[in-house]
Amino acid sequence: MSSMSPFENAMKQLKKSAEMLKLEPWITEALSNPQKIIDVHFRVKTKSGIRTFHGYRVQYNNSRGPFKGGIRFHPNVDIDEVKALSFWMTIKNAVCNVPFGGGKGGVTVDPKKLDKEELEALSRAYIKAIHSDIGSDVDIPAPDVYTTPEMMAWMADEFGKLRGKYDPAVITGKPLDKGGSIGRDNSTALGGVYVLEEAVKVYGIKEKTVAIQGFGNAGSWAAKILHERGYRIVAIADSRGEIINPEGIDVVKLAEFKEKTGSVLGFPGAKQTDKSIFETECSILIPAALENQITSENAGKIKAKLILELANGPTAPEADEILKGKTIIVPDVLANSGGVMGSYFEWVQNKKDERWDASKFDKELKTKITEAFNNLYFTSNQRRITLREAAYVVAVGRIADAMKGEKNA
Ligand code: GLU
Repeated sequence: MSSMSPFENAMKQLKKSAEMLKLEPWITEALSNPQKIIDVHFRVKTKSGIRTFHGYRVQYNNSRGPFKGGIRFHPNVDIDEVKALSFWMTIKNAVCNVPFGGGKGGVTVDPKKLDKEELEALSRAYIKAIHSDIGSDVDIPAPDVYTTPEMMAWMADEFGKLRGKYDPAVITGKPLDKGGSIGRDNSTALGGVYVLEEAVKVYGIKEKTVAIQGFGNAGSWAAKILHERGYRIVAIADSRGEIINPEGIDVVKLAEFKEKTGSVLGFPGAKQTDKSIFETECSILIPAALENQITSENAGKIKAKLILELANGPTAPEADEILKGKTIIVPDVLANSGGVMGSYFEWVQNKKDERWDASKFDKELKTKITEAFNNLYFTSNQRRITLREAAYVVAVGRIADAMKGEKNA
C-alpha cells in the first residue's frame, strides 16, 4: 500500500499542476480544501436492531457548476477518501467539460452484509440526513462503488417526499422507469473503451491482451465490451482473488458465474492464481476497483504497455514516477469520465423532459470523450508531459478561470 493517503496523493497532483500553470497562490490555496463537508450519523432499522451509520457528502468546488459525484457504500469509506474522491470529481468534470463542479458522498458500511430491505432503509436514511444540502441545481449524486440504479431510485424518491415534489434531476444513474437514461448503465466502461481505442491508435499498441482488476459495474462491462471488440481478456481479479487464462476468459459466462456465486473465483474456464493481477503478461491493464492499488512496491513489476484507469485514483504518485516513459497511463479523470458524462446526459434529459434514444446517447458520449482525449493528447505532446499531467493542467486551468470570474474571488 502507498504510505500516502488518497487525499495527500490528490494534493500532490494539484501542487504539480499549480507549478506547471504558475497558478496564483490564492487559487491553489482555495483548491487545497473542500468548500463544505457534510458529516452525518444517522439511524437505520436493520434485522439485528437499530444501528447508527456514519456518512459524508463532500462538496469540493462548484465554480464550474453544481457539485456532482457519486455515493460510495464501502467498509473503508472515511473522510480522507471522500475528500480525495470529491477533488478528483472536480478535476474530472473539468477535463470532460461538463458544466459541473465536484462532490462525492459515502457511507461506511459493508453493503454485502445487508439485505434489500435494509439497503433501502440505509439509502433513504442517508438522503434524509443530507437532503438540505443537495438539489438538482446544487449538488447531484450518482452511483459509485457498491451503489446501484435501484438505490438511486430510492434516494430520488426519498428526496421527493422530503421536498414535496419529485425532481428526477436531483440524482443520476437512476433506472430507466424512474427517469434514468438509456446508456448510463455502461457509460463508464464504454467511454473508457472509446478512449482506449484512440490511445492504442496514437501510441501504436497492436497486441490486444487485457488484465482487469475489479469485476463490478465498470470492470465487468469493460470486459464484455472489449471482448466483443476482439480483445482477449487474459486475467480478472475481484476482491477475493485472481483468475487467469492466457487463451482468453469467456467473460459472458464469467458474469453469469459471478452473479450466482458472488465471486470470479472457482470459474471453470480459468485457473486461480496467487500472483498479483498487476504482474500479468498483457498489453493493457485496467484497474477498475479502488484507489492506491498501483504503488512503488508493484509498479516495477507491471508488464503492460498501457494502463486504462477505470477506477478513481488507482495509481499512487510515486508509482506514476516509476512508470513514466515506460507505460502509457490513461488517467482516471479521463478514462472513467464516461460515467459522469452519461450522468450529464441524463440530467439534461430530466431538466428538459426529453428522452434520447441509444444512438443519440452513444454518439454524444463518443464525440465528447474523444474530444477530451484529443485535447489531453495535444497538451501532453505540446508540453512534453504525461497524459495525467496534461489532464491536471487542462482541468485546473479551466477551474481557475471559473474561479477568477466569481464575484467574491
Ligand atoms: N461515481 C462515478 C465517478 O466516479 C460517476 C459520478 C457521477 O455520475 O456523478 O465518476
